[in-house]
Amino acid sequence: MHNVVILGSGCAGNTAAVYTGRAGLEPLVIQGHEVGGQLSLTTEVENFPGFPEGINGPDLVENMRRQAERFGAIYRHGEVTEADLSKRPFRLMIDGEWIETRVLIVATGAKARWLDLPSEQKLIGHGVSSCATCDGFFYREKKIMVIGGGDSAMEEANFLTRFGREVALVHRKDTFRASKIMLERARNNPKIEFITNATVDEVYDVQQNIVTGVKLRNLVTGETWQRDVDGLFVAIGHIPNTKVFKGQLDLDPDGYILSHGGARTNIPGVFHAGDVQDRVYRQAITASGAGCMAAIEAERMLEHEGH
Ligand code: NAP
Repeated sequence: MHNVVILGSGCAGNTAAVYTGRAGLEPLVIQGHEVGGQLSLTTEVENFPGFPEGINGPDLVENMRRQAERFGAIYRHGEVTEADLSKRPFRLMIDGEWIETRVLIVATGAKARWLDLPSEQKLIGHGVSSCATCDGFFYREKKIMVIGGGDSAMEEANFLTRFGREVALVHRKDTFRASKIMLERARNNPKIEFITNATVDEVYDVQQNIVTGVKLRNLVTGETWQRDVDGLFVAIGHIPNTKVFKGQLDLDPDGYILSHGGARTNIPGVFHAGDVQDRVYRQAITASGAGCMAAIEAERMLEHEGH
């Protein structure tokens, strides 16, 4: 029987592991299949306080893991395929084995949705990004392209005009899911060019390991053409990793965990941390902060119960 099981090894899970580890709770961290979370998909991180020269994303999460292990956290590869949160101890099926825990911290994150082109996947972190706040800074005076027609795409396109020489917004329809105000703001921004009814078929240049351009296709006429691009931001939504908790944890219609105040979920003893609950901020530092909050809640609960 574990005191604390933490699901997820991104900033939220690792920070929860540091805190619960230092509290002597010997947390078990289940790493999931995207070890290190979203930061493992980035290169340079310049906005995590404490690193004046910046730090490589994968190094940052690896440092957090080593820090947690120093305080007794145990890391294990695996994926939860079933969960029984109906009573305590909670039960989790991990790679065919049931484990039990007094407290559960869900830090399973949200996957960025990608176009799923092989060339796009190969260039993630090398010119392809899912986070303008994180990576916009690297594209000063460069040619930027944003994909998507929702609020995220509008927000990212607007934000990126601070850096880029030009921002092309590519959307597969000519109607937009974005709210009117966000769409208008983007339309009124002279640096943004709208390319509608279009999709990206390929990202160049995998050989050079850097983005140099894209192949576009008009979905109405079938016409294809190439365009020079230095940075491609894919903003077509996120998918929170909560499928296994459906029907037990309160989720919003998109699957994000609904907070019941602080780090609490609707089930006492199950806490949330990071992007699995946060559709707004989605930063490494906010996820770490949320991991700390969940850990403190967990510690207090276990202490109150005499563990
Ligand atoms: P979203 O509203 O789900 O929009 C996703 C967009 O991506 C849609 O335009 C969709 O096109 C497109 N898309 C999806 N899959 C695609 C694919 N495979 N290829 C090409 N395009 C694809 O996602 P979001 O923009 O991330 O917003 C999520 C939620 O957060 C929304 O509720 C939004 O209002 C909110 N949000 C709010 C703010 C704000 O108010 N400041 C900022 C960001 C997000 P179709 O329309 O054709 O399906």
